[in-house]
Amino acid sequence: MHWLFGTALANRQVMKMHSGTVYLIGAGPGDPELMTLKAVRALGQADVVLVDDLVDRGCLAHARPGARIIEVGKRGGCRSTPQVFIEKLILSNSRRGKTVARLKGGDPFVFGRGGEELRRLEAAGIVVEVIPGLTAGIAVPATLGIPVTDREAVRGVTFVTGHTKDGAEPNWDALARSGTTLVIYMGLRRWEGISLALQAGGLSRRTPACIIENGTLRTQRQVVSTLGELSAEGFSGPALVVIGEVVRFARVPRAQAGARAA
Ligand code: SAH
Repeated sequence: MHWLFGTALANRQVMKMHSGTVYLIGAGPGDPELMTLKAVRALGQADVVLVDDLVDRGCLAHARPGARIIEVGKRGGCRSTPQVFIEKLILSNSRRGKTVARLKGGDPFVFGRGGEELRRLEAAGIVVEVIPGLTAGIAVPATLGIPVTDREAVRGVTFVTGHTKDGAEPNWDALARSGTTLVIYMGLRRWEGISLALQAGGLSRRTPACIIENGTLRTQRQVVSTLGELSAEGFSGPALVVIGEVVRFARVPRAQAGARAA
């Protein structure tokens, strides 16, 4: 028994020695200049790059010429590459000694399934280096000058998803009373229901709120309004909804406050 265990361990060790490195990289919120130096360096070493559709294609300028780029998009509700297939691709390439970069939007561990991928790859004996990225929930409000934890206005920030795997709702009642800035990822399609749930939970309809689409990119658009009046109409995402007193600090040209930006 002891010997068997030893052999399995040795096999795993051998596999690790021969496997190519896998980098799980956060590409940041959009603008390629918001990638970290570490992300750029790792991407430049990769033989194979698996890239999510949220990642701006400008980021791929840092890939090695000749690297194999595989698009594995997974936009909510659209056709996408199944997660198991993505993991199989990473495993097979790594086992052939290839250096693999798995490039994800924002930070891989913030609503990015990076944790699931990491656990399964490590269980298969693959060494994974995680390279964090700038998450949209902080960087995108910052483009408007919104400090999500400004101490004059708030005690903290909550990142929450508006789209859940099993349909289970976040506790909007509790969130309405949390006294934190709410940053909602993937909340665009369900915005109306979310807004009503937060108001039913006691959050004033006059609370400042905004939607920011394609943040940090040239195509960025936003609307700054209030919880009761904010409408998702005309936005198709990716977009964040930010709710809380900190939204008062949004620097949008006066003509755009309360109206859609061009
Ligand atoms: N891992 C990513 C989030 C992936 S979930 C991160 O850390 O940022 C995808 C959601 O993120 C989108 O539906 C949207 O709500 C948000 N998002 C990502 N990039 C965005 C951007 N540039 N502008 C606005 N919202 C963005």
